Amino acid sequence: MRLSRHFLPVLKESPSDAQIVSHKLMLRAGLVRQTAAGIYAWLPLGQRVLQKIAQIVREEQDRAGAIELLMPTLQSADLWRESGRYDAYGPEMLRITDRHDREMLYGPTNEEMITSIFRDSARSYRDLPRTLYHIQWKFRDEVRPRFGVMRGREFLMKDAYSFDLDEAGARHSYNRMFVAYLNTFARMGLRAIPMQADTGPIGGDLSHEFIVLAPTGESDVFYHSNWEKPAELSSVDFDDVSGLQTIVSGYTADYAATDEKRDEAREAEAGADLRQSRGVEVGHIFYFGEKYSKPMNLRVQGPDGSEVIPHMGSYGIGVSRLMGAIIEASHDDNGIIWPDAVAPYKVGIINMRVDDEACTAAADDLYARLQKAGVEVLYDDRDERGGAKFATMDLIGIPWQIVIGPKGIARGVVELKRRSTGEKVELSIEDALAKVVG
Ligand code: ATP
Ligand code: MG
Repeated sequence: MRLSRHFLPVLKESPSDAQIVSHKLMLRAGLVRQTAAGIYAWLPLGQRVLQKIAQIVREEQDRAGAIELLMPTLQSADLWRESGRYDAYGPEMLRITDRHDREMLYGPTNEEMITSIFRDSARSYRDLPRTLYHIQWKFRDEVRPRFGVMRGREFLMKDAYSFDLDEAGARHSYNRMFVAYLNTFARMGLRAIPMQADTGPIGGDLSHEFIVLAPTGESDVFYHSNWEKPAELSSVDFDDVSGLQTIVSGYTADYAATDEKRDEAREAEAGADLRQSRGVEVGHIFYFGEKYSKPMNLRVQGPDGSEVIPHMGSYGIGVSRLMGAIIEASHDDNGIIWPDAVAPYKVGIINMRVDDEACTAAADDLYARLQKAGVEVLYDDRDERGGAKFATMDLIGIPWQIVIGPKGIARGVVELKRRSTGEKVELSIEDALAKVVG
């Protein structure tokens, strides 16, 4: 993409209404624009990153055996009356009336809808286990939308729902998601710590929030220093029940808890290794048994012919919130430092002198070759000062930047810069190309 033809409204000044660095940078880098309280338009660059994040989430859900579908944003109130949540939900639910005076709502979550969809088709134990998910906009009329997309009113969520014959099966489905989540966040360069969370009336230990450490996060968290090592991907067989349980148990061995779930004994045990910080919740997994299947009358025939009420769990990831969390974790004074996996473009080309024929010819040629190689490239071909171009590329966080100037071109070299380290090297065009294509 040529920057001269792009729609990339970057701001020079830090917007005064933004309190945290990720919100400031998202506005400055032209990723989002607020259109109403807690509601954002995703500008072209932001939309690209959002799609990258969603795609990683999708790939890891698929790998764990979940199946994608897409449910609507608008739901009927009657569906929610079946579970009893229509009256219980409170003012966070946006209630809407259609022209026929039918009561509708903009979905804050989808347990009722997925239960009714599954109920219509599942007949026997052979239809289980299944985990279904979608990536869809939600609306919650938060009292205090703030920190940009971190706590919006309209936000993008991945929500998955599992159906199993019994609690042991549900635990395995839970463990699949547990490991899928760790891999998902690790691919985005994030260390998300699974922390025991409230299970409500269900009890048990099958509820975890995945929390990314950030000084500006909304939750107070306490954890063992072992969590400070970088995240790694685990390659696992998601069908291996005991293997998966071993991995999950390993992850929960080191202490980590939010304010609500602190454990004095375990903190004493951690001793000098206990750390305190703040964090952002990027995901939440939850087993809730028959909470929806029972009142909504979801039944399947078990292997022995008897009726079984499926056990369910739900599993959310804040896809749009993740963009804020990634920026909180990865930026410097000059702007965003996108991890390669979610960067809107992999390579930026800076043409230092568009009025210099040799320079522009070389930049145009490099641009064409990168495009041909299938590399996502942003070409700054604007008639602007070099300094302004460097600042823009750094602000929007492009991982590899190739600077083409008249002096270098006369010697047959360009400068290749790595955004994350600031490291710059002079290379021939061929070598620069090989380095970023490889
Ligand atoms: P929170 O405690 O932050 O309000 P929640 O418990 O209401 O979260 P869930 O219902 O479990 O969240 O939703 C799943 C995920 O959706 C959360 O882990 C979070 O990443 C994301 N999420 C929830 N509310 C918002 C919001 N208002 N804006 C952006 N993302 C959100
Ligand atoms: Mg909430």
